[in-house]
Amino acid sequence: MTTLITHPLPVLALGLALGPRLLPPRLLLAGLLFSLLPDADVLAFRFGIAYADAFGHRGFSHSLLFAGLTGVLGALGCRLLHCGPLRAFCWITLASASHGLLDAATDGGLGVAWLWPWSEQRFFLPWRPIEVSPFVQGFFTQRGLDALASEARWVWLPCLGLALSGLALRHFHARASRRSRPASRRANAP
Ligand SMILES: [Zn+2]
Repeated sequence: MTTLITHPLPVLALGLALGPRLLPPRLLLAGLLFSLLPDADVLAFRFGIAYADAFGHRGFSHSLLFAGLTGVLGALGCRLLHCGPLRAFCWITLASASHGLLDAATDGGLGVAWLWPWSEQRFFLPWRPIEVSPFVQGFFTQRGLDALASEARWVWLPCLGLALSGLALRHFHARASRRSRPASRRANAP
């Protein structure tokens, strides 16, 4: 898996880039939580369910169907999220699906069961630059630190770039439209 610090970052970065008019804070926050939810499947180990099982780690909760179902849940609760059902569906689905995408870019463990329940095949991306994170008990080891360094290089920095670019674009766009407003008023004056 990717660490729990890193999973919400692409969602946060895209949310900051798009801004609160498109993504109300509650919707953004829900997206952050749903980007973490698929890893609740580690509880399966406690019940003796094997990693490779459809209900094991990176199984059904990492599938595209699960992401879509979380989107439906978001659409049903869209009033709480201060947006319409379509926007809630799209954002929550994207946030949940982003989890499996990051896991599929790691260099270890089993792949992600994107197509469950139609197929139990586990998938990886063709390019897997992120070092897989150890589970909690091995997190504060050299391997855990190496995984964090790898995530910083391949996820944190690109996310920072995305968030800053979006913020800058929105800032310049807002400035440009403020400047053009008085000019158009002048043009309309008698
Ligand atoms: Zn995961």
